[in-house]
Order: sequence, then C-alpha cells, then structure tokens
Amino acid sequence: MIRLDLGPEPPELAAARDAGIARVLAGAQPPTRTQLTGYRQPTQRALHRRQFKKCAWCERPVGRTGEPVEHVRPKAGATSADGTASPQHYWWLTWTWENLVFSCASCNSQGNKGNRFWLMAGTPRLPIPVPPVNPSWFDVSAESPVLIDPRREDPLDFIEWRVVDQRLPRRRWRWTIRGRDPQKRGSGSIELLGLKSLVDTVNAHLQGLLALDAQLRAHLDGPRAAEAQAVWVDMVDAYVTKPGAPFRAASWWALEALWPAAARSGAGLEAVARPGVRWR
Ligand SMILES: [Zn+2]
Repeated sequence: MIRLDLGPEPPELAAARDAGIARVLAGAQPPTRTQLTGYRQPTQRALHRRQFKKCAWCERPVGRTGEPVEHVRPKAGATSADGTASPQHYWWLTWTWENLVFSCASCNSQGNKGNRFWLMAGTPRLPIPVPPVNPSWFDVSAESPVLIDPRREDPLDFIEWRVVDQRLPRRRWRWTIRGRDPQKRGSGSIELLGLKSLVDTVNAHLQGLLALDAQLRAHLDGPRAAEAQAVWVDMVDAYVTKPGAPFRAASWWALEALWPAAARSGAGLEAVARPGVRWR
C-alpha cells in the first residue's frame, strides 16, 4: 500500500453528491442500497487512471471493468471489531472523493475488508450528521480508525516488508509483511485486508530485483564499478519509481534491506524516495 494523492474530485461528483444526499434526507432512515448510488459513474475511470490501474490496498494491477469503486468508510453497515454493525454509517460519505479508492474484488470482498471498519479500542464512531449539510459533515478527523487510509496518510509509516532471515545469502532472501507502529494499526490493516495472502506473489516479484542486485554487486566487485550506478538507477526506476509498477511499497522496503543507508553511501548509491502517487 502506498500514499495516494489523487488530485481534485471529478466535477460530476459534486452533482451526484447533492442529488444523493437530498434523496436520502427525503426518505426513511436508515437509507436503502438503492438510495446510495450514483458515485461510481463519475469516479471509476478517474480513480483507475490516477491510481495507475492498481488496487489501492494490495497494489496488484487490475482491469477497470467489473472491479469495485471502494469506500474507505463503508457507505452503510460499518462493522466494528466485535461484529456489531451500524446501518447508518457512513451513508453521507458515499459521494465523498477523499473516501473513494479503486480496489480489486479480492481486497473488497466480505472475507477481507468488505464493510468492516474497526475503530481503536474505546473510541466512538462519528456522530450521524444533522441537516443542513455543511462542511463539518465531511470532516472525519475526530475518529480513530484502525484501517490505514492511503488517501490521508503514508502506509509506509504503518506497514513494512521485512526479510525473514537475513543470515541467508541475499539471493535466497524472502520477505514477509508486518505492522510497525506501536498502536498496531498496521497489523490491524493487514488482517482487515487479508494482505498476508500476498506474500508468495510479492516474493516472486522480488526475484527480479534480487537478480538485478546480484548484477550490481558483481559490477562493484569487478573492474567496471561505474556500471553499478546504472543498474541501481534502472532497478529503482523499474521497481519503485515507475507509477504503474506493482508492489512499489514492498520493493522500497526490499531496497532498504539490501542497501541500508550506510552501505548505500559507501557504494555511492542514491537514497530511494518513498513511493506514492501524486496526481496533478
Ligand atoms: Zn487488492
């Protein structure tokens, strides 16, 4: 998972939001599924393109058709860690740009995220907003969720890919995913999204990175040390910088493990910027 700064909302979403909120307020509570529609058409193409055709949660490449536009805060029936569901949470965020991401069907499935939106122990859900509509309806900063929100925070602060056994020769290294923050939001998010199931796929992807790393080290040891620089630039670009590359977060962590800061500066290799999407 990487930080997603997806730029301004598509203009058509504002009209869909006004219509949707008016529709719900005119009806009975809690809102029905058919009232909570109209968000997909204005946003799906923009999200897919601005996320460079990858799932916001697992960073797998996904096709556009058939895959969901996903609500970070569910549009109805948000479920707590103890299994209780609130039918009204968070209907008013159904058409909120910052609450939407493009996701793969697997991450959004009922066994994984689905409607689950856990809060930190002992903290309350946002109150159901009271008309008239005003900007405070869309301010979620008073809530303390477990799930890392890639539209608001950098997932690299919470989730890391770590080498399972650094005593092995580098070409046999494998990585595993785990939380790294004391509040355990990282590990909670891994559980909510079922991200442990990615481990084999990510390790297969990192085999290519390990092969390039072996080339780089051979250059450093040999007569053509200058070529190491070129391999480094290529591997950073292909695995971490290129916006459409899969598993950019895992690749960033892999490079940090293969080339910690001291080793990097000793070899004259540049630091690698944290991966993320900045749509302008
Ligand atoms: Zn996914």
